[in-house]
Amino acid sequence: MRYRTNNEGTGYRGKDHDQPIKREAEHFEHCPICGQDFDMRDLGQVLHHAGAEHQPVPVDQ
Ligand SMILES: [Zn+2]
Repeated sequence: MRYRTNNEGTGYRGKDHDQPIKREAEHFEHCPICGQDFDMRDLGQVLHHAGAEHQPVPVDQ
């Protein structure tokens, strides 16, 4: 789906906000403290890894 702000009256052509699409891996950061990769879109994970001392978030296997 494309979201544009085109205006036929003025001829203005809106910017295409669909591009570029980030690859899934680009949303992840590597934590220098615990060594775990975490999703920057998940506030819970971001706040966990913001602590000065912490362990990796337990992951269900
Ligand atoms: Zn961490």
